[in-house]
Amino acid sequence: MTTMRNDDLLPKVEKSSPIKENVQRKYDKLLRHHFLYGSKISDNTPKNPFQVLPTFETGKSIDSQYPIVYDPESLNIQSLKSVILKMINKIFNKEEKATLIQALHPVFEQFHKRIISQNMAWDCKSQITELISGLRDKVDLIKNQDNFDKNCNQLYLQLSNYSKYIIGFSSHTLFQFINLKLIQRKQRNIEFLEMLNEHISGLAELLLLHDKRRDTTDKQMDFASNLISFDQISEIELPAVSSGLSDSRLNRLKKCLNLLQKAKERCLKDSTTIFISEELNKEYSIEKKFCNAVIEVDSEEVCKKARQAYKIEISKFVKIIKALRIAKLEINQQYNDNYHDIYFEKFDLPYLGEEDSQYFRTLIILEKSQNLVTKPNDLLALLSDDAIVKVLSINNVREISAFENKQRSEAFQDIVSMALFQRNTNIYQGGTEDAQWLNEAFTKGLEASKPVLWNIITCDPESNYTNRDFSTVKTAVDSRFFPRFIYQVTSTQSFGERFNLEHNLQPSASLPSYQKDIISLSGITRKEYKLTMADFFAMNEKNLQMLEILPSGYTNAELLVLDEYLLPKIDDVSKKIPFIWLIDERQILKRACVPMSWISRCRTSLDFWEFLLELSGMSHHNLTLEIEKLKSAWDAQKKVEMETLNQELKLRFEIRRRDDLEYGIKRILNALVDGRYAIPNKTNHIESIPEIKVDRSNPAEQGNSEIETEEIKSEPVLESINPEAWVESNECTSCNDCIDALPTVFKYNSNKQAFVHNPKGGPYSKIVAAAEKCPAACIHPGLPQDSKERGLEKLRKRAEKFN
Ligand code: SF4
Repeated sequence: MTTMRNDDLLPKVEKSSPIKENVQRKYDKLLRHHFLYGSKISDNTPKNPFQVLPTFETGKSIDSQYPIVYDPESLNIQSLKSVILKMINKIFNKEEKATLIQALHPVFEQFHKRIISQNMAWDCKSQITELISGLRDKVDLIKNQDNFDKNCNQLYLQLSNYSKYIIGFSSHTLFQFINLKLIQRKQRNIEFLEMLNEHISGLAELLLLHDKRRDTTDKQMDFASNLISFDQISEIELPAVSSGLSDSRLNRLKKCLNLLQKAKERCLKDSTTIFISEELNKEYSIEKKFCNAVIEVDSEEVCKKARQAYKIEISKFVKIIKALRIAKLEINQQYNDNYHDIYFEKFDLPYLGEEDSQYFRTLIILEKSQNLVTKPNDLLALLSDDAIVKVLSINNVREISAFENKQRSEAFQDIVSMALFQRNTNIYQGGTEDAQWLNEAFTKGLEASKPVLWNIITCDPESNYTNRDFSTVKTAVDSRFFPRFIYQVTSTQSFGERFNLEHNLQPSASLPSYQKDIISLSGITRKEYKLTMADFFAMNEKNLQMLEILPSGYTNAELLVLDEYLLPKIDDVSKKIPFIWLIDERQILKRACVPMSWISRCRTSLDFWEFLLELSGMSHHNLTLEIEKLKSAWDAQKKVEMETLNQELKLRFEIRRRDDLEYGIKRILNALVDGRYAIPNKTNHIESIPEIKVDRSNPAEQGNSEIETEEIKSEPVLESINPEAWVESNECTSCNDCIDALPTVFKYNSNKQAFVHNPKGGPYSKIVAAAEKCPAACIHPGLPQDSKERGLEKLRKRAEKFN
């Protein structure tokens, strides 16, 4: 159970003072020597309770599902603690519940220890009794003691129903699971027995009818001198089924019946044979722990023995299936000598279907992976024969983490590689720490009609089963040293669907990362770390002694955290010295330098993981290259397109800019030519400048010009500074009216369009009248030039609408 977090229990960064320069230089040299040759510098040999950072959980129980409860009906598992909590919530009242839940954790821990120490006894009733009395002892001051006792009895009764299905976390977990699954497989045996019984009855009936027919025929012969009664005729008609039984058919039926009866007797006795090596049996004490199975312990090669047994068993099984098929045809009167005789003459192993194979006797080989790898011939022969055998390859976490013995440590990779390249073998690799995964692997594996390899890492049988055992197995799996995966062969799947790496931590990453709260000098900070194979190696005390713990104040630019050394972000790491994080007994963070010899092992593990990623299709180097190539080509094409577009836009912009400039100049010139703007000493003699026609076909431009025109027209300042009469020459229709009326004021320009050449050349009244008469309304009278002229007020008003 997770307790409240106490910040004092977090890993801490140690305060340190710098090391003297000469000491530092000396240490630099020694450290490189340690990295290259593994020579220890100081006697700072790390010992437990040194912990690797990923599993550092001071003050907590590691989050584990164990003990678990197996449900034989749904085939599911669930945590026993959650089952008990549900029961407590249902049975007890509020006051009792609160005290019980508080008391549960230590009692439950004790219960777990007790069930794993009983060395695989299958019934936990006595431990459940202890659990209940432990809870009773922890709870006092309950108001209604009688009621509490009654409820405790109810809890006991309910829990007792699970007593044969509780599994704790130990080296026996694995075998308990198989045993429960084999009990479960009894159902298949029952189905097969029913099938055998059904066919045996059918055949027996046929033979009985034949016997009756024979008796009746004998009696008929005796009737030669007597009359035959009606009843007797009916009786003769009845056994028509067997009336034509030839001697060969009779023999066939009898042979089938005999075979099926023997198969039934065998089936009633047992349905499983387990082959165990003497070494494994001794180590895990498993011989007597399987119920409902024949155990074959052998000092020699178990695979050899299993192979011999398989040959005998499969030959018997083929005969039984053949007998069943003949019996079925005979019972349904469908046996046709002409083609069934030939078919059954040739009937052999390839004629068996998947539905037949599921009734084949369960043959299980239990052996250590290193022993399987040492003499692989018989195992490989079994696999290449498509033998329906199940191989449980066991890996003791203590042994495979032993750094000195590379061969033993990496045997599990060899066994999986061998099986993988057979391509017909269902492979389930993982650890016992994940009960859900283990349940799935055993359920599917036992049902498979092809060879099966369970390659499982489990805790050391000599261990005391502490949380550290759980963490070690978990770290082996999570660090990619012993990755979890499934390779499942079924006829309906395409090859790509066979692999499953999804049960791993962050399966698409080369190394998984995790976050930890650390007490640094500036307070609590959350940091991200990567889990490496070296973290797993460091959990073995012997390996731990190969590491060099760096002094707190030591700094060196060449130091590099191991995950970055293995998966470099920089070009050259050859001069770097890799380290991992450890935590000492005072919860101080320490850097531990790993020797070069560890690097190649880490790389081998990482390589195996990458190999699985490639095979499973989760990573695909060639595909990635192809995608990158296509992406580069696409990028290059888009770059060219962008450049072309850019050039085109620049060109269009330039054209537009030039047009706009030209247009602006024309407008200014027009305005100047028309005299619209008040220009000091304006001469109105700019006739030489030709009128510039503006192309207004572009609506946008037209719109803009309209706006601009609008702005100009509404500008009161222009009105006020242009007091003299003027003509919008470009609007003039050359009607001569103004010229005729006031030739002293108006004149034509070179385009024969009127302009004011002398605003004071005539009376204001005539100018206003010309403006009123102008058909183009392009004469603007301005203001009176002679203030003494009569009727100016009225004239101004008349002129207003033209100004
Ligand atoms: S009256 Fe108007 S249109 Fe006719 S010539 Fe004079 S300015 Fe031009």
